[in-house]
Amino acid sequence: MEVNLISDTVTKPTLQMLEAMFAAPVGDDVFKEDPSVNALEEAVAQLFGKQAALFFPSGTMTNQTAIKIHTQPGDQVICDHFSHIYHYEGGGASFNSGVSCRLIQGDRGRITATQIEEAINPPDFYHSPKSSLVSLENTTNKGGGAVYDIEEIKKIKMLCEAHNLALHLDGARLWNALEVTRESPKAYGALFDTLSLCFSKGLGCPVGSVLVGSNEAIENALKIRKILGGGMRQAGYLAAAASYALTHHRKDLKNDHQKAKEIAAVLQTLPLVDHIEPVQTNIVIFALKPQQDETKFMLKMKEKGIYFIGLGKGKLRMVTHRDYTEAQHDYLLTTLTKLNEDERL
Ligand SMILES: *Cc1c(COP(=O)(O)O)cnc(C)c1O
Repeated sequence: MEVNLISDTVTKPTLQMLEAMFAAPVGDDVFKEDPSVNALEEAVAQLFGKQAALFFPSGTMTNQTAIKIHTQPGDQVICDHFSHIYHYEGGGASFNSGVSCRLIQGDRGRITATQIEEAINPPDFYHSPKSSLVSLENTTNKGGGAVYDIEEIKKIKMLCEAHNLALHLDGARLWNALEVTRESPKAYGALFDTLSLCFSKGLGCPVGSVLVGSNEAIENALKIRKILGGGMRQAGYLAAAASYALTHHRKDLKNDHQKAKEIAAVLQTLPLVDHIEPVQTNIVIFALKPQQDETKFMLKMKEKGIYFIGLGKGKLRMVTHRDYTEAQHDYLLTTLTKLNEDERL
């Protein structure tokens, strides 16, 4: 049996999703004439109570565009040291926008208003880069799928207003966070200037992200998307998949969360496991005992058909997703339990 827990991006479209894609009316979206893209953008803007939205090929491009529209070269972005925008976007913040990142040591990827306040450079002190943007991630990726307390975000929002800083959300997995907290997307929309949302993660689409914000922000984003080469033509086939997922797949995220918790519970019993980070959503991050060899462990699991990755030492990561079946789940848990018995690592 093969079990792929490398990421929640490994899912494939279902037959029903493919049918929705096949049936999509399309046009040239670079001329804003694709009805399926327009419908998706309108629906997502409405869902978050924002004026406008823009469809993108990737979450990297939505984040990079957001950074560009909120900053000038030389400015500084305040974010957690685990941030995707800092670690996993190829240095795009400096490449595309000419900005630096002021990194904060948060709690599993989550930063507080107090920490941000300390990181803001005084605007009249011209020796320091100008702080112009705060970027949060929810759920956190390298932080193990941790979910923000919205009360903290409200404090951050007030702080940003007081200091004239823009506030962006990297919400690649915001759907997972909302599934846990049961908060409304509008509550999130009200707190951020721009939000980036992915459809190619837990929602199971092959491609697609959306940036939401004010009319002005999205007008600026359209220009940047063009510069980055992200204008797509009959993109409605992809937008139709996202619209389908919004209606039909959000409710299934709780199954991924449940399975992740069950994996953590079994890992907890293994003598070779040192610790597991708390599991709130669909990401399980764990560390082996210091005398264990992570590479050997991953290789041994691979031989059994079980795939996952490491995000740096002490951060082995398994991500559950909608294509991870009950049968695969049983196989993984049984295999892990057996490791417990013969402990030959
Ligand atoms: C996956 C991800 C992104 C976007 O990645 P793409 O592969 O470019 O779509 C952005 N932020 C976070 C936290 C992610 O996990």
